[in-house]
Amino acid sequence: MQTTTRVCVIGGGVVGCSVLYHLTKLGWSDVMLVERSELTSGSTWHAAGGFHTLNGDTNMAALQGYTIKLYRELEEITGMSCGLHHVGGVTLADNKDRFDMLVAERAKHRYMGLETEIVSPEEIAKIAPITNLDGIVGGLYDPLDGHLDPSGTTHAYAKAARMGGATIETHVKVEATTQRPDGTWDVVTNKGTIHAEHVVNAGGLWAREVGAMAGVYLPLHPMEHQYLVTEETPEIYERDTEHPHVMDPAGESYLRQEGRGLCIGFYEQPCRPWAVDGTPWDFGHELLPDDFDKIEDSITFAFKRFPVLERAGVKTVVHGPFTFAPDGNPLVGPVLGLRNYWSACGVMAGFSQGGGVGLMLAQWMIEGETERDTFAMDVSRFGNWITPGYTRPKVIENYQRRFSVSYPNEELPAARPHRTTPMYDIFTEMGAVWGQQFGLEVANYFAQGDEPTFETPSFRRSDAFAATAREVKAVRSKAGINEVQNFGKFRVTGEGARAWLDRIMAGRIPTAGRLSLTPMLSHKGRLIGDFTVSCASETEFYLTASYGSQAYHMRWFEQNALDDVRVENISDTLTGFQIAGPLARDILQACTRDDVASMRFMDVREMTVGQVACRVQRVSYTGDLGYEIYCDPMDQRQLWQTLWSEGQPKGLAPFGMRAMMSLRLDKFFGSWLSEFSPDYTAAETGMDRFISFKKNTNFIGRKAAEAERATPPHRQLCAFEVDADDADVVAYEPVFIDGTVQGFCTSGGYAHHSAKSIALALIPRDQAKDGLKVEIEILGSLRSATLISTPPFDADGSRMRG
Ligand SMILES: Cc1cc2nc3c(=O)[nH]c(=O)nc-3n(C[C@H](O)[C@H](O)[C@H](O)COP(=O)(O)OP(=O)(O)OC[C@H]3O[C@@H](n4cnc5c(N)ncnc54)[C@H](O)[C@@H]3O)c2cc1C
Repeated sequence: MQTTTRVCVIGGGVVGCSVLYHLTKLGWSDVMLVERSELTSGSTWHAAGGFHTLNGDTNMAALQGYTIKLYRELEEITGMSCGLHHVGGVTLADNKDRFDMLVAERAKHRYMGLETEIVSPEEIAKIAPITNLDGIVGGLYDPLDGHLDPSGTTHAYAKAARMGGATIETHVKVEATTQRPDGTWDVVTNKGTIHAEHVVNAGGLWAREVGAMAGVYLPLHPMEHQYLVTEETPEIYERDTEHPHVMDPAGESYLRQEGRGLCIGFYEQPCRPWAVDGTPWDFGHELLPDDFDKIEDSITFAFKRFPVLERAGVKTVVHGPFTFAPDGNPLVGPVLGLRNYWSACGVMAGFSQGGGVGLMLAQWMIEGETERDTFAMDVSRFGNWITPGYTRPKVIENYQRRFSVSYPNEELPAARPHRTTPMYDIFTEMGAVWGQQFGLEVANYFAQGDEPTFETPSFRRSDAFAATAREVKAVRSKAGINEVQNFGKFRVTGEGARAWLDRIMAGRIPTAGRLSLTPMLSHKGRLIGDFTVSCASETEFYLTASYGSQAYHMRWFEQNALDDVRVENISDTLTGFQIAGPLARDILQACTRDDVASMRFMDVREMTVGQVACRVQRVSYTGDLGYEIYCDPMDQRQLWQTLWSEGQPKGLAPFGMRAMMSLRLDKFFGSWLSEFSPDYTAAETGMDRFISFKKNTNFIGRKAAEAERATPPHRQLCAFEVDADDADVVAYEPVFIDGTVQGFCTSGGYAHHSAKSIALALIPRDQAKDGLKVEIEILGSLRSATLISTPPFDADGSRMRG
């Protein structure tokens, strides 16, 4: 057996083999894969082999599209068959909300170039004639849907990898992974030790155990899953063409032709997690016992939807486990805190996603970054707050909701509340309706009087609309207060702190007592962060950014660490409040003996507020006069008493995230992962105005940013006022200019203060002129919209800076 390699991939399922192939495809040939048994000995061999592009996350959908198109390439390279059946598929909608969701998906597909189509019940009758259409209002047809031979496909990946120079060792079980001081790995197996520069955990059903060998907890859990194959059915074998796939979300089933019969699988509600305390090492070539009780209701429903099933006997039952992450997306990328250790697991749809996972991981390893935003599948989207006790109920929830409608304003209930601040019970008393970010409870709004204490999920303006309007009014007319717990926060200290920040951040680093806003760029000039930097002294700085991306950002800081700089993630050890609105200054002044009036916009001061030591920053994402007041969490309730008792008589009111996201639209402020994400560059999104080309440091991404400065990018972020009805832009709606799709929305919503429906969208730069008339597709209806370049609130900044 080879004992040194650049990359050792652990696991020969479809994912490990795809990673191996993509490493060779992108140019690394000194790579190997070890498999404890034969290839496909985990979930892979018993998969139903179905593939489809539909995914609520646009980047995941694009990667699924890539995976499906890759199979022909694999067949051509290897001369092997993947057993492809490109039969197309239809997803049924049995109610208005589900239909709305499909229509919204179709709209996204327009600018992605995917040829999906909304179909009527009459058209479904022609496409999938065995379907009982009672109650069906329509569907989404995808010509790319199909199925393949799981084993043949995995072996095709393996052969293509071998042709690229990779080695595959079967019957080699990894028993330990230990890191050497230089960051390389000893992969200890039953056949000897392999010294590898990089390790990839593609252990599938055993990924938890393989992760534990390196001291890593990977949040995934296996679930039992069952599909049935029927005896021959005349309605199927008498057809001239193969019957397409039918996804029936109401029945939580997927159905397709298998030989001369049918194959139907279920995501049943009484589902069961498998191997809670660990996957047995002697498992792999067997199935779980048939369990018809678990799927009894699903079968009854399926008999009604597809009456032909009632007459068809069951030929085979396949019941096996496969893994899920808490949100159902894969866990991919470098693992925080471990050099050269990569995750490629938690892939619940290996035949839809495996190709994309392999491509992204190979790009990350070889080119240092991926070509698109991978946050939806980045292992760093979960922090070290996650435990098996949290993962399990979330995975069950995800399995049960596999076919549920996902709404943009939905907050999923399982495993909550998980993390709370000291304000949780006080705010709950005050009517807080909670959402969740990165495991932390965050108030969405505060219900008063007969306002709903649960926000009904909806694609349209929700029943929290009035409460949000009330909170926005309080902020703009007097003052509002909310917590700053959901900012990612970092402390940067040391002799080299300023020089390090000057290299990591593209913008100006402020002097003591001041703040600055700055983008953080990747080497290729993509946006990987938008930060507020606060300077306490030349050797002490504070950074704030997105709370949900704190592990993502910390990983980047670690990858670019220097000896004379210390970076600490203090997101949960620094908390506090922000107060914003025209009376914010008066309220803060009433709480402190320090001189608040002399604080300029973007100043930072140490201050005693009431009896609490605070750091106060004069800045606010609401676009209003505002202050962020940071303190120790142990002092937070005391600080609250002071601010609330002084502020309430002056009209201070609590406000939540719904109001915050509405307030920012008055000023066209972008938000992280919507406008600002690795999918976009600084010049595309206007963040280039915060880049300091004057500073004489070679900040990361400088070359790319300078190139963009010389030749501006093709597209530009613009704001639109939309002639909306009862639904606003959410994200990814297509923008039609002169009747053709030329752009898409990044986010939007209703700006209550300015009483406008606002959309932010990327469109061709040469079209970006004030007054441009466009159409934006919202829930299937083309709404006219006008480009506006002047923010409807405080355009001259007098309120914010005054
Ligand atoms: C009943 C059923 C139906 C399914 N239908 C579909 C479908 O229609 N479409 C679809 O896309 N997906 C489907 N899936 C899911 C699909 O099977 C998985 O997404 C996919 O197989 C995951 O592949 P993997 O490579 O990540 O993991 P696995 O297939 O589990 O592979 C992991 C490999 O790692 C090896 N390994 C683990 N630990 C070690 C070690 N210490 N040393 C060496 N080797 C090790 C294992 O032996 C195994 O071969 C289905 C799953 C089930 C259970």
